Amino acid sequence: MLPVILTIAGTDPSGGAGMQADLLTIAALGGYGASAVAAITVQSSREFRCAQPLAPDLVQHQMQAVFDDMPVAAVKTGMLLDADVIQAVATVLAVSAPKHIVVDPVMAATRGGTAMDDQGVEAIRKHMVPLATLLTPNVPETERLTGCTVRTVDDAIRAGRQLLAMGANAVLVKGGHLPAAPGTDVLATATGEELFQGVWQDQPNSHGTGCVLSAAIATFLGLGDGLARAVDRGRSFLAGALEHGRSPGGGPGSVNPLFRLAAKRED
Ligand code: PLP
Repeated sequence: MLPVILTIAGTDPSGGAGMQADLLTIAALGGYGASAVAAITVQSSREFRCAQPLAPDLVQHQMQAVFDDMPVAAVKTGMLLDADVIQAVATVLAVSAPKHIVVDPVMAATRGGTAMDDQGVEAIRKHMVPLATLLTPNVPETERLTGCTVRTVDDAIRAGRQLLAMGANAVLVKGGHLPAAPGTDVLATATGEELFQGVWQDQPNSHGTGCVLSAAIATFLGLGDGLARAVDRGRSFLAGALEHGRSPGGGPGSVNPLFRLAAKRED
């Protein structure tokens, strides 16, 4: 089976995050990567320069071309940048109704640039959260979506429950930035919470972390895994990609979704 995984995300010319990281991840895990560009960023490993959303109808046309042509097993959304694009994406997703939608509510580029405005955050709350099979916010994104301060695992559990109440089917509050327990992720579902403990990796080449995780989980869901198993396997894949980060430019580099391929080549 070659499941089609559709990423709707922003592009990263430095190649480490966004759609580029998504497509490498999907391919590395045995999926077929389809894509709809939602935004274009201009950045290098040294600096973030600017970003621009695409016209909402152009984003919709790209998505529709894929949905009209292929059986999409799972969707992953990443940087959607503004409220108009978010609404446009949600409209097509609501009609196409793919089985799995992993929503990574990207609100800022890791290398800087301006954070998403309040209308964008409200559009994620209103349009994307209710569509999410799994929502994957990091701590700052969780805080903006819920208005709650998140410092501990208990805070993350409370915030996860709040996001479930806002309509998400499941929420993975990523603990990379959790002061009290860095590396512990909380999966909140209607049946309760599950903690995923991790070994915190203080790696310089961490650009693309969230993108790789959400794309990996979407791919595992598309391959038929249940939610908790897809999350677990996605986290293991990310741990490997993070351990084998690369830095081809002059600044801090990115995680490596092709780490298994590189290991094979060295044999
Ligand atoms: N998407 C794009 C286009 C980006 O440039 C970034 C970060 O700069 C992200 C998503 C989120 O990146 P990360 O996976 O590091 O959270």
